Amino acid sequence: MFDEISRRRLLASGGVAALTLPLLSAPVLGARKRKTKHVIIVAFAGGVRSRETIGTPSNVPNLMRIAEKGIVCPNVAVINNGHFGATQSIFTGIREYAGIRENERGENPTVFEYVRKHANVPSNLVWLSTSGGPQQRNLVYGAHPEYGEQYGANLIDGDGIFNEEFRRVLDRFGRPTVPGKDEEIAVSKLQKALKTPKAAKGMNDADTLQKIQKYILEEITGSTARITGPGAGDARAISVAISVMRIFRPTLLGVVLTNADIAHGSYNAYVEVIRRADEQIGRLWDAVQQDPQLRDSTTIMVLPEFGRDRNLNQRNGLDHGDRSPDLLKVSLVGAGPDFKQGKTLTKDIRSIDACPTACDLLGVPARFSKGKVLKHLYS
Ligand SMILES: [Zn+2]
Repeated sequence: MFDEISRRRLLASGGVAALTLPLLSAPVLGARKRKTKHVIIVAFAGGVRSRETIGTPSNVPNLMRIAEKGIVCPNVAVINNGHFGATQSIFTGIREYAGIRENERGENPTVFEYVRKHANVPSNLVWLSTSGGPQQRNLVYGAHPEYGEQYGANLIDGDGIFNEEFRRVLDRFGRPTVPGKDEEIAVSKLQKALKTPKAAKGMNDADTLQKIQKYILEEITGSTARITGPGAGDARAISVAISVMRIFRPTLLGVVLTNADIAHGSYNAYVEVIRRADEQIGRLWDAVQQDPQLRDSTTIMVLPEFGRDRNLNQRNGLDHGDRSPDLLKVSLVGAGPDFKQGKTLTKDIRSIDACPTACDLLGVPARFSKGKVLKHLYS
């Protein structure tokens, strides 16, 4: 209660208030036996072998730090069904074969939809931050008739753009580059555009939209936009995720990285991308640890969609297609109040188990998932 009051007082005293949601919007998660109230799933995608992560701890000091507080599962089976399909499998808990028509929505509900629908979580508390292209908007909800758009996650990518509607509006007037009058015009245009019945329908209420608008502009004009170099897309996606975590304290936050796929052309650049992502994941973890409301109630799970080939290609890079264990087995690193501490759990599991486990931690069923709840991770 003290925390609550001091937080309100703090918010009332500064501009931060405008960016912070009323605490009333926190969902009631029903009768639950878990301590977890927030889940972060990081798809460390783009093809990342365990050899360069837990196999070379000096590449990923931050992941190792998280593992020390939680668990490492080194035997996570995946399938090599294309970057998008394999990433989607993590979020639907079903082996997705979406490689052929990868720009269409999948048929299966996502973890975001399960959580929003069954725990009655408002849209401002479920987010996906990605470093990939427009294709990844298909990860925020599927085409299942019982779920779909009204239960989707808010999508944000490293460029600070949310949802298709936002993207269209922003495309029309262009992205502001410096804070000032342009932003004011941008906000008023956004406000008009977002007062459409479609936008109002289940996605976000007016209050949230206003905060999101301001937030977009901060992100576009702020430090995130200035991150450059190898792995910049991933670094931006995590940086945006950190802002989302701080501002909204979401029930569920997904992060999708993609830059490791630079490995096709350069092993060294790939390792560089992994190191940089690890650094940002460390920042995300620290942001959670520094927030008294998140620290003891947030579970994080980090896993790639698949690995990479055993041997270098002719360009001194790494492809993915040799069916080796390096490709088809990855590692999951996780930590949270319901997980064991400092344990390596060698049992064979699958990447599709992440979705039902996240759902279980938040007290909802992953009704159509083919994965299993990873109860052996629990303390
Ligand atoms: Zn690739």
